Amino acid sequence: MKTKIGIVNVNDYRGIPEAVAGAVKLIERDLPFNFTSSKYILIKPNMLSANKDACTQPGFVEGIVDYLIKTGVSKDRIKVGDSPGQVRKTAPFIAKKIGIYDVCMNRGIEYVDFEGDVPVKETIDEAVIMKDFYVSKPVKDCDVLINLPRLKTHAEATMTGAVKNYYGIIPGGLKAKKHVLSRNAEEFGEVLADNFSWVVKNKPNRLTVYDLHTVMVGPQGPTAGRMLNWNLILAGTDELALDIVALEIGKFDGLKHVPHLKSIYRRHLGVGDPGDIEIAGMAIEDAKKLVPKFKPPAGLMSRSISYLTGNVFYKMLNKIPVLNQKMCEKCGDCSRVCPVKVIEFEERHFPVFTRKGCISCLCCMEMCTYNAIDVRYRGIRGLFEQA
Ligand code: SF4
Ligand code: SF4
Repeated sequence: MKTKIGIVNVNDYRGIPEAVAGAVKLIERDLPFNFTSSKYILIKPNMLSANKDACTQPGFVEGIVDYLIKTGVSKDRIKVGDSPGQVRKTAPFIAKKIGIYDVCMNRGIEYVDFEGDVPVKETIDEAVIMKDFYVSKPVKDCDVLINLPRLKTHAEATMTGAVKNYYGIIPGGLKAKKHVLSRNAEEFGEVLADNFSWVVKNKPNRLTVYDLHTVMVGPQGPTAGRMLNWNLILAGTDELALDIVALEIGKFDGLKHVPHLKSIYRRHLGVGDPGDIEIAGMAIEDAKKLVPKFKPPAGLMSRSISYLTGNVFYKMLNKIPVLNQKMCEKCGDCSRVCPVKVIEFEERHFPVFTRKGCISCLCCMEMCTYNAIDVRYRGIRGLFEQA
């Protein structure tokens, strides 16, 4: 299996949107699908938080949307969305805050809220750890998936980029399940690889345009850190190859140090051998001269400590739903939507929320049309509970 990756220097173009189109043009003849005959193209940037440095830049969404429209794709077949995994209305809030929502509105493109619909339960037969999980409906429905990751350090996963960006296909707080399933960086790598295996199997029509224009580094990645100008954009269809090449440009061996890349290579879910990767545009050696070394967030020991302390805080600060009986209309929607079935409901009675087993996804709160569900922190008890 061979793959092609396009590399461009943003400084050779008038701006990011033009450079995005330039990178895609380098590989467009090798795409295994046709944009114009697709029914529904979903563009998935990284919208982790309201800190714009932690997200894909709006210029990438602008560039790919303009490219698709020029190619002849009608606007009503293009949608943009992501799921940051926070709480109520956070995804649209973040999209507005970082400018991606405006890009959609200005171009007449629909912004879709991944948490705005009931998630779809999926099973991964070949999974190592995460056998069952939930996928956002817009992801399940699309026939072309355009991935717009940004390269950043990641305290648990070492780095986040082309492969890791797909973890956002799991809606909202359901991503928190990783904390139940994985207790260390290696296991988290397997969970990411399980998630990626679903993408490979179910979404064969994929394109990644990789934001290496400014790269986040430092121990607080992926939410905050120092921004380094790399001025590069990569385009391709094989996410493993893209992550390996991005890290190689930063003089860092991804296959040796990044657990999820190691697992994906071992499972043959992507192209990892240099001899099978063809480069178009700028040569890797020339790109290397432009950028500083990509340094991992911390050594193994401090990463483990940060993971453990992070897990303690996570468990205490994790949120659980609390019923407000004054507002509740006893409709039972919360019970029906709960993915782990921990809300008991009988007709004409108030629902009963069980703390044990609740994975803090807050889907129940999202779905309650009467605003009858509040949230509160788990607190000290959270340390001894299952979420
Ligand atoms: S969805 Fe809201 S209103 Fe309906 S039973 Fe649950 S808490 Fe009550
Ligand atoms: S009760 Fe169910 S739906 Fe609500 S947060 Fe917990 S797991 Fe999610």
